[in-house]
Amino acid sequence: MASPKIRSTSRVGHYALGIDWEGGHESIMPYTHIRAHCPCDDCTKLREAGELPGGPGTQLGDVEMLGDRSIFFTWTDGHESVFLLPELRALCRCAYCIGEPERPITGGPPAPPPDEPERA
Ligand SMILES: [Zn+2]
Ligand SMILES: [Zn+2]
Repeated sequence: MASPKIRSTSRVGHYALGIDWEGGHESIMPYTHIRAHCPCDDCTKLREAGELPGGPGTQLGDVEMLGDRSIFFTWTDGHESVFLLPELRALCRCAYCIGEPERPITGGPPAPPPDEPERA
């Protein structure tokens, strides 16, 4: 699968980042959601210990594209995150991405739950 690309990002209120993906998809990701899934070693260890990195008050500082493959975030708690674009794309929790459109609306067996790519 081709690597996803970002056309633009925008702030959605004070709590979420809107991401316009090439190909027409749009994600709105709460900052806390992005921060909690930071792929760095420290945050991975926290998640393995059962804690979520960041917190309810986590705010986004700066957003910077690193070429067309990764994106760099700074946070008001002083942390920095670098996501590969496929990692960020996988965080989208919109109805489409969590598989709602596959749910039959006119009878038939229920669709199986979507596979959560929960990578360590
Ligand atoms: Zn981190
Ligand atoms: Zn989505």
